[in-house]
Amino acid sequence: MHGDPQKLASLIASLIGLCARRLPEDVLTRLEEMRKAESVPEEGGSPLGRRIYDAMFTDLDMAAALNRPFCQDTGIIQFFVEAGTAFPLLGDLENALREGVIRATVDVPLRPNVVEIFDEKNTGDNTGTRIPWIDWELVPGKDSIRLFIYLAGGGCSLPGFAKVFTPLEGYEAAIQAVFDQIVHYGLNSCPPLLAGIGLGPSADTAAKLSKKALLRFIGARNSNLRAAELELQMEKALNKTGIGPGGFGGKGSVMAVHIEQAGRHTAVLAAALSTGCWAHRRLLAEIRPDLSCAVLSHRE
Ligand code: SF4
Repeated sequence: MHGDPQKLASLIASLIGLCARRLPEDVLTRLEEMRKAESVPEEGGSPLGRRIYDAMFTDLDMAAALNRPFCQDTGIIQFFVEAGTAFPLLGDLENALREGVIRATVDVPLRPNVVEIFDEKNTGDNTGTRIPWIDWELVPGKDSIRLFIYLAGGGCSLPGFAKVFTPLEGYEAAIQAVFDQIVHYGLNSCPPLLAGIGLGPSADTAAKLSKKALLRFIGARNSNLRAAELELQMEKALNKTGIGPGGFGGKGSVMAVHIEQAGRHTAVLAAALSTGCWAHRRLLAEIRPDLSCAVLSHRE
């Protein structure tokens, strides 16, 4: 690549670095709230839970001081691009995203996590077949791009599933399946978790929506009032499981539950779950035509 595409790749690499080294503002705020909630034993808080949060914030402080990732598992890199069709480097963007991953792997550094399926060999640079994963949405006429970067860790991806139910089984079966999955596997996923639920017409659409639900900032609710109410009820119920931070017990087990939905086929209801761990590395940036950039998710 020459000229501006090189600059774009450098920008992508630095954004990946920021994503790996710092938590987004909304996640930090929620973790602070959950730490406080564990600090009052008279109200059901867990002193051990409080210490787990203290350890998380110490980890974050040390990562900031040393300018390095705050978790050893820097994940598989996923990009969710809302690309303006008038963005001048649109044709170079896919290569720049891939190049940015390769540079970030060396510069940040990131742990090489990508293993080629069937070859069972680590590629060494965090790229591979269809990886980094890129999800495209085109925005006609716009000259900038909105870019979500998500680092999908192994542990936090573990509870993910998608399943198709008959309408007779209803929303209840879908919600039960989500609960079962979180209760069985959530412990291994470094809670408190962010639960992303997708509901739609097929396993693939529900799965995609469940991951998109993880991109929504914590504190924002589904615009459908019934969905928003279900998010709230599920949060309350999952927090009663007592999984707690790190799985050591406590008042809070989930940072939030987010639901995204699509219209379904009359004969089926598909449900999917994606989970984020406490180290929810999700960054949103707007990149303008001159490659100036605004990070919308982080304080820095
Ligand atoms: S689940 Fe999250 S915090 Fe735990 S090891 Fe994986 S990426 Fe790190």
